[in-house]
Amino acid sequence: MSKDNAKKPAKKKKQKQQQPEANPATLLQSPPLPPIEGPGRAMVIMAHPDDADFLCAGTVAKWCAEGWEVVYVVVTSGDKGTHDPAMHPEKLAAIREEEQREACRVLGVKECIFLGYPDGFTSESAELRGQIVRLLRLYRPDVVITWDAFRGTFNHRDHRNVGQATMDAIYPIVRDRLFYQQHEHEGLESHQVNEVLLAGAENPDYTVDITDYWEKKIAAILCHTSQLGGRTREDFLRDRAEREKREPGKPIEERFRRWSIRRPPRMPQQAQAGAEPRQKPQRAAG
Ligand SMILES: [Zn+2]
Repeated sequence: MSKDNAKKPAKKKKQKQQQPEANPATLLQSPPLPPIEGPGRAMVIMAHPDDADFLCAGTVAKWCAEGWEVVYVVVTSGDKGTHDPAMHPEKLAAIREEEQREACRVLGVKECIFLGYPDGFTSESAELRGQIVRLLRLYRPDVVITWDAFRGTFNHRDHRNVGQATMDAIYPIVRDRLFYQQHEHEGLESHQVNEVLLAGAENPDYTVDITDYWEKKIAAILCHTSQLGGRTREDFLRDRAEREKREPGKPIEERFRRWSIRRPPRMPQQAQAGAEPRQKPQRAAG
């Protein structure tokens, strides 16, 4: 019997069945994670000016209104983000840094730190990791928001690298004093970040209702004039009105994959056995 004859369609079918399949329904039916309690300190670590405001400005606005202390760390100054033939990188970096600072003022963010890497040229390096570890030891946040570096679908290399460097910095490096021991000479002690919210995640499991902070979020996004291609507040208002017509009363949410160093227990199932699984996302999360 030749090898060719040995290939039977039934065998192929069996192989196909063995492929692991994602089951989003499992995630949707899990009881919700309890809200992160505050007010506390948060650090948002992103690759480019505007990343944070598109991904999580509603959550940041909510936290700032609740008395949280929020710091932004922006690894590059987005100096490639243009189609303007007359623009050059230094000028664009200055414009985008100022746009980001203005958005921070709108939201009530305490400080905005630029690390000055060239746009598109980040790598998951010991240097970048060390800079992030130092800032974590200096500002001592309870919660960090960063890019989800582990998603399987396409992402910008800076998003991926910044997410990876941040996750590696958080666990276990920032916690263990012998990593980057030179920080001790500056008087900085080791620190533990308890919660990470990964933005841009494929399978988010944590939602923050930002309905009351949507206007603030749009005001922050509108500060990034160089990136909006002429879009105005009226455009965003029209989009929202259309959404409301389509899905009346549906809360506006930001969604994250939550990663906890000490994983919190899930909230008790709201539905009793035999009842329908949870249909609506939690309104009070955050
Ligand atoms: Zn970006």
